[in-house]
Amino acid sequence: MFIVKGEQFAKERLTWSKPFDKVSDCDITNGKIRWFLGGQLNVSVNCLDVHVAKHPDRIALIWERDEPATEVKVTYRELLETTCRLANTLKSHGISKGDRVGIYMSVSPIAVAAMLACARIGAVHTVVFAGFSSEALAGRIQDAQCKAVITCNQGVRGGRLIDLKSTVDAAVKNCPSVQHVFVAQRTTNPTPMGKLDIVLEEAMASECAECPPEPMGSEEMLFMLYTSGSTGQPKGIVHTQAGYLLYAALTHQYVFDYQQGDVFGCVADIGWVTGHSYVVYGPLCNGATTVLFESTPVYPDPGRYWEMVQRLGINQFYGAPTAIRLLLKYEESWVKKYDRSSLKTLGSVGEPINHEAWEWFYNVVGDGRCPLIDTWWQTETGGVCIAPRPAEEGAEIVPAMAMRPFFGIKPVLMEDKGKPITGNDVSGALCISLPWPGMARTIFGDHNRFVDAYFKPYPGHYFSGDGAYRSKEGYYQITGRMDDVINISGHRLGTAEIEDALDEHPAVPETAVIGISHDVKGEIPFAFVVLKEDSSLDQAAVVKELRNLVATKIAKYAVPEHFLMVKRLPKTRSGKIMRRILRKVAMEQTENLGDVSTLDDPSVVTEIIKAYAQYK
Ligand code: ATP
Ligand code: MG
Repeated sequence: MFIVKGEQFAKERLTWSKPFDKVSDCDITNGKIRWFLGGQLNVSVNCLDVHVAKHPDRIALIWERDEPATEVKVTYRELLETTCRLANTLKSHGISKGDRVGIYMSVSPIAVAAMLACARIGAVHTVVFAGFSSEALAGRIQDAQCKAVITCNQGVRGGRLIDLKSTVDAAVKNCPSVQHVFVAQRTTNPTPMGKLDIVLEEAMASECAECPPEPMGSEEMLFMLYTSGSTGQPKGIVHTQAGYLLYAALTHQYVFDYQQGDVFGCVADIGWVTGHSYVVYGPLCNGATTVLFESTPVYPDPGRYWEMVQRLGINQFYGAPTAIRLLLKYEESWVKKYDRSSLKTLGSVGEPINHEAWEWFYNVVGDGRCPLIDTWWQTETGGVCIAPRPAEEGAEIVPAMAMRPFFGIKPVLMEDKGKPITGNDVSGALCISLPWPGMARTIFGDHNRFVDAYFKPYPGHYFSGDGAYRSKEGYYQITGRMDDVINISGHRLGTAEIEDALDEHPAVPETAVIGISHDVKGEIPFAFVVLKEDSSLDQAAVVKELRNLVATKIAKYAVPEHFLMVKRLPKTRSGKIMRRILRKVAMEQTENLGDVSTLDDPSVVTEIIKAYAQYK
């Protein structure tokens, strides 16, 4: 469809300073992807100026600050002015087109303005989640060779203050490329300032509120972003201008059934791709009102999301399974006491959503009234690739299934030897056979790694790294990462399937299953189980029930041979379970855990190693 309609979409939906003359030029075998060649545009113009021209006082951002009921609204006109001042500040400090700028800030209007200011002058932003350690931050700044870093003095999250500036100080000591550190003032607490440091608000005050946009070629870099690091060393994924923006905007509209006037609530952090595409670029390109969520799902209590939905009148709510699994442990009254009648669409992203979480989100939060869409995509895909699109189809949604490819996306399931699997009711490696405008263009500084990781495994196709099942009806279900597929006596099974069955147990909010090698069976499943905090629970009885659940829902051979009760699971800072760490624990290879810089809380690992030692 993009081949046919791409031209029309790109012309209608984007504002160009120079029209493109060729829709695409791609050679997927060599990882060469180019869209809308010869054209020039500026992403910030498409996200701001075009809307200011029509409705300057429309609300662009609602900043839902950590403390409830202290939200701040920012109009399109105000956001454009702030962006221009910030862009001029960067320019005055020698930052120009092509320079990389690190952004290490909590979610706020000034952080969004920082992204758009880079886009305005053609600088390349790389947002690093403001929870990463100084080493992880330094590694990313060094890899990107950032010329400047934009940060805040402190972050505020869950009622706690986080010293962002001191983390940046420690990081940039080892980053000679950094010439300036711009420091926005999120709190009034004093911050020690060094010779690289500039108070952002002061510098912006003396700058002009207009900044001519840099005309950018469609295929020049817009941003780079490091992946979550669930499977290994994070990669600096590169996205370019026109194709990315068009894909983010179209998916934002069609996947979530966004209508003009809606308040779009994606609670992801801007440090992840979800924040880029569905907090910032997609909604702003569509002239939407987008929510910036600074807090956590349980601050000040587990009703936070739904109190916010009521207060801000949120129409689309987009979140992650990890938060849903956390919230369903609490009384339903935390949801029910708030008016959620504004909600029209619910969405989930980041991990496979298990049935229990899906049902709770759909029935308790959505009162069985709002379509709940499971959206599958990746940092590399730029936007949603597989999701139900209920508005358009007007049809059924199968629970916990991503179901339908987006326009222009051609999923193919591959068998081990690289042959496409035809027919339905089949599983395989999830690939995409045609290029689309939103896909990543390269890994920063390492195109060979890009080609090797995504295009070599199945020549002529983009390989996602995930596995999927195509149902009898032809719908797609993500079965988890290919690395997490286990082979038990010749039966291939995604660990997500076993987890989904285990999670059904009322005393079990969350589980992680991995495969360990076995002399006879090849591999056997090993389950790490988080139990509800309830001292009356009989663990042996729970294990017996868990065995039964897997045996009846999947098959006897899928029943884990080991059940280890743990307090928490190791997760990335974006909330994804890091199964590779669990595999190391169960294989007793903890002396070499690999890259753990993206791990949220390293003490979880020590906790689990101890629990394993006792279990053994
Ligand atoms: P890394 O590539 O560094 O290991 P990552 O894959 O976690 O990190 P992201 O790009 O943030 O980095 O996440 C994309 C991955 O998240 C997908 O490949 C998939 O495994 C998982 N995912 C995202 N959405 C879904 C979904 N709806 N259902 C199942 N899995 C999902
Ligand atoms: Mg990945």
